[in-house]
Formats: sequence, C-alpha cells, structure tokens
Amino acid sequence: MAMIYCRDCGCKHSDRARACPKCGRAEFDADKSIAVYLILLWLFGVFGAHRFYAGKTKSGLAILIMFLFGLFSFPISAAFAHSGADASVMLLMGLGLMCFMAACIWVFVDFIVALCNIKHPEKIFAKK
Ligand SMILES: [Zn+2]
Repeated sequence: MAMIYCRDCGCKHSDRARACPKCGRAEFDADKSIAVYLILLWLFGVFGAHRFYAGKTKSGLAILIMFLFGLFSFPISAAFAHSGADASVMLLMGLGLMCFMAACIWVFVDFIVALCNIKHPEKIFAKK
C-alpha cells in the first residue's frame, strides 16, 4: 500500500482509497481515453466492449450475454416455431426480445452518460 497525493486538494491518502477522503475526488486510470471509450461504445457497444475498456468487466459481460442471448433466441425460436408455436417457444422469443432491447437501451444510456461526462472521465472509468 502506498500513499498518494490527491491531484485536486493535495491531501495525502492511500492509493487503495476509491476517492480522496478530503475532497472526494475519485482515483481512476488516467491513461484511458474518453475518445477510445466512445468509439468502442459506438462500434461494439452491444458487445460490452466499452465497459471492458473502462474496467467494468462484470457489467460488460452482462451486456454481452444479454445481447447474444437475444440475438440467438430469434433463429432458435423461429426454427422451433415451424413445429407449432407452443408456450416455451413464445417464452424464449419474449425473453430474447426483452434481453436484446435491455442491452440496446443499456448501451444507449451509456452513450448519453458518456457524452454528459466527457470532461469527467473519473465518472466513467472504474476506480483504480
Ligand atoms: Zn482531495
């Protein structure tokens, strides 16, 4: 454990602290670029790429799984629908559609949040 100085108020605190105890400034990986984050979000947002980049692996994985499940539930339920659409096929299709839409909305919200916080990368990137 090392002691670091807050870049805002100069107060000395542990580098393990999520934020400066005096002024609340969050510590994050300053090498990461908001431009790269936005490009990843725009191109591969539904795969959770921007969240992996930001160090938010768990929620990135959640977006990826929701999107892929949603994507593959369409052809699977369509294939089964030929042999008569029973309740389980409709359930799979409904769940898939919900996951697909939730992933898309999540990415859209991430995009809005990123644009609003373009000058506050500490609010977007995971704390060190
Ligand atoms: Zn401080």
